[in-house]
Amino acid sequence: MRLFLSLLARNRLALAGGIVLSFVVLLALVTPLLPLADPDVTNTADRFKPPFSEGALLGTDHLGRDLLSRLLWGTRLSLAVGFAAAIIAATVGAAIGIIAGYYGGRTDNVIMRGVDMLMAFPYILLALAIVAALGPGLMNALIAVAAVNVPFFARNIRGITVGIAHKEFVDAARLAGLSDTRIILTEILPNVVPVIVIAMSTTVGWMILETAGLSFLGLGSQPPQADLGSMLGEARAALITNPHTSIVPGVMILIIVMSINLLGDGIRDALDPRLRSGALSRPMAATLVKRATPAPEPREEGVLTLTDLETQFHVGKRIYRAVGGVSLHVAPGECLGVIGESGSGKSVTALSIMGLVASPPGVVTGGSARFGETELIGARYETLRSLRGDRVAYIFQDPLATLHPLYKIGDQLIEAIRVHHSVSRSEARARALKLLEDVRIPNAESRLENYPHEMSGGMRQRVGIAMALANDPDVIIADEPTTALDVTVQAQILSLLNELRQSRGLAVIFITHDFGVVAQLCDRVAVMYAGRIVETGPTGAVLERPAHPYTKRLIACVPELGGGRRELHAIPGLPPAVDALPPGCAFAPRCDKAAEACRQGNIDLAGTGDRAVRCLDPEAPLTEAAE
Ligand code: SF4
Repeated sequence: MRLFLSLLARNRLALAGGIVLSFVVLLALVTPLLPLADPDVTNTADRFKPPFSEGALLGTDHLGRDLLSRLLWGTRLSLAVGFAAAIIAATVGAAIGIIAGYYGGRTDNVIMRGVDMLMAFPYILLALAIVAALGPGLMNALIAVAAVNVPFFARNIRGITVGIAHKEFVDAARLAGLSDTRIILTEILPNVVPVIVIAMSTTVGWMILETAGLSFLGLGSQPPQADLGSMLGEARAALITNPHTSIVPGVMILIIVMSINLLGDGIRDALDPRLRSGALSRPMAATLVKRATPAPEPREEGVLTLTDLETQFHVGKRIYRAVGGVSLHVAPGECLGVIGESGSGKSVTALSIMGLVASPPGVVTGGSARFGETELIGARYETLRSLRGDRVAYIFQDPLATLHPLYKIGDQLIEAIRVHHSVSRSEARARALKLLEDVRIPNAESRLENYPHEMSGGMRQRVGIAMALANDPDVIIADEPTTALDVTVQAQILSLLNELRQSRGLAVIFITHDFGVVAQLCDRVAVMYAGRIVETGPTGAVLERPAHPYTKRLIACVPELGGGRRELHAIPGLPPAVDALPPGCAFAPRCDKAAEACRQGNIDLAGTGDRAVRCLDPEAPLTEAAE
């Protein structure tokens, strides 16, 4: 709750809306205690007194009634009716939606067709029809407004419930023997409540407007009772001659609806932090680049060379330094392993290369990524697009998320080929078939006609590799492609990648958190921690003589099959938050060799030959000779 309130308070517009609405609600609550004139007492001798008249701060209406008094009593009534209608509509609609979504099948069909029939009528016409049937009056207007909004809540909540009802935790609750009612109350409802609150907060203003509309037409509150809509309706005839009688209730409606909408947007954002971080907003076509200095010249040679690459996430006032000056290179036919715990910046580094980090909130703030002679950071979108998937290809961790679920495998491969090469469909199909055979998919011809969900995880990952190979790229960036697979399939995929690399001269950047995989596949390895490379060198040398305490501990975590009994040492503590990195060595809080000097200032990546380490007191010398 405290987090929700602090998120809400950080949104200035929502805060302003909340303050204004609180003030209006407070005024409405204390209205009976205020020394106001009777809102219903007429005095035709004082009709149409202008604002700031003696004894009538906001003037009087066509019957000489005090406008300030009627405004406050009317606001009280309009707010009460609007909120009551919202609560009734949300409760009834959510109940209908949950029942339809949870039980599905015929129950869902019958309920939702009824809801569809209600939604087929325009809102206001339906409300008018209900009030016409029930008769004019504020209570009937409330029922009408609530009724026409029930389908909106029912549809929304039903959609959310359908998704939740098939989740594993609901299956687990069923297996545990919980009744349907209990599952709905303890598993489903807590998950849909935020959606109900969000829908309510954004529709309550609309319901106040609808109620005011019915009162304006004479179907809501009846004379002499005042609500904001009826005040507007009564002032209609004097709109030109005495505009203040319309302006006073009109401005109040505007203030209430605006403040509710601003607060509602803030509540929605605070309940869904992904919206605040920009995670759900449409990302730019390429990562935003804001470099304070020009791109540095590469210090190493390779088909792909990163130099001092920096990528940050700007979320509100917070800056997450996900990649803090990474330099690495990979040569044709070489496999470079990038290893580190989750959150060490491996994937963000890989995605930054081709401008694939979502902006907002991602920003490349420095450094360079060269593909041959082409600078990729800050390159025109057309340049990046022509290289993506053609010269530099990616294999992602979850092929089910990257393959389009509604297109056949063959069509997706053909599209990947034809996006970059003007070949006929039949030529592209022949190439797609060859690719599936290359990645050893049995019955490749028939597999072209399969949808992703018709294949196993290992087969889908092979399709992901085939797609990465579709245009004979120079570089493949494989981002934990075997993490979700079982060990036998993982071994097959790794040996396949290795063969393809050697036969095609591919440069591979292989991202993983498993030193076992690095040992099997990679020529060199770069160890990342808190967005920086802390050790790099040939795989054999790093495995034999890890120099950085973090590398040594990562290796100690890998079990060895047939290696005898050995205690596996977990690394104590957690990686630091990249929006609050400690000064000096980021590993110091977890390092048992940490000294005062380690916490003082920047520690450079220093080394000899092809090995380097970022540590003041390495575990081992970087060269055998130095030992
Ligand atoms: S610099 Fe110090 S704290 Fe950091 S890894 Fe080396 S010894 Fe440990």
